[in-house]
Amino acid sequence: MYDYILRGGTVVDGTSGPSYQADVAIKDGKIAKIAQAIDCAAKEVIDVTGFAVAPGFIDMHSHSDTSFLEDNRCESRIYQGVTSEVAGQCGYTIYPCPDDRMENMRDFAGSDLTYFASASLQEFMDKVKAKGEQMSTNLIPLIGHGALRCGVMGYENRKATPEEIAEMQRLLDRDMQAGAWGVSLGLGYAPGVSSDQEELNALGEVVAKYDGIIPSHMRYQNDKTPIALEEMYEINRQTGAHVHISHFKASGKKAWGRAPEFVQHVADARKAGVNVTV
Ligand SMILES: [Zn+2]
Repeated sequence: MYDYILRGGTVVDGTSGPSYQADVAIKDGKIAKIAQAIDCAAKEVIDVTGFAVAPGFIDMHSHSDTSFLEDNRCESRIYQGVTSEVAGQCGYTIYPCPDDRMENMRDFAGSDLTYFASASLQEFMDKVKAKGEQMSTNLIPLIGHGALRCGVMGYENRKATPEEIAEMQRLLDRDMQAGAWGVSLGLGYAPGVSSDQEELNALGEVVAKYDGIIPSHMRYQNDKTPIALEEMYEINRQTGAHVHISHFKASGKKAWGRAPEFVQHVADARKAGVNVTV
């Protein structure tokens, strides 16, 4: 006896093969059988004729890591078929921070999230559990570079010292061990905008160690997009970390008509061996 049978849907299984008509049986939260017609008993049979049946989608760019604290149903994702979210984007998370500078993190997180502002990803998870909160989707957490920088040196608009960079590396390394998938950049915003290539490469070294990813809200998303792309490529060239462009734009009048050129820019970099995705 199955728990559910999804009957009569069009299966799009994510293997890049063509879609096909089939029933899908589910038991104990897992797919137990996919076949043309499943003629068995189930606790519930759901007629999905005319619908697509697919694995849950992964939202590559989400900010649910804080919004689920307001509404943990994440319905705007669930109704789109999204079941996993890569969250903590654009340099923004509410952790990590050196223990003795938690004021910086509370300031960065903002007044609504003061309680959840944490010294580490692990501490954040512990607070979430203690409060009985639970996201309805799967969280694939990133560490925000802006948070790291603000935690270590506040909003100071200057180059980080070698000691500050080492501290950012230490905090990032600890959170990667705790389950983070990489570091997100928000180079169009303070305090990420004050960073330079050296600082980004130093964080890239840590991410590469764990085979993680660096999704970036780039420094420019206009006629200067190629300059911002080069900054991302350089992280990969120097450290091997996989860089991902979150918002790929040609915004502003000066960039009108240049989108194909920017697309080609990335294609050429990939051809040359840079591990960059968009
Ligand atoms: Zn962004």
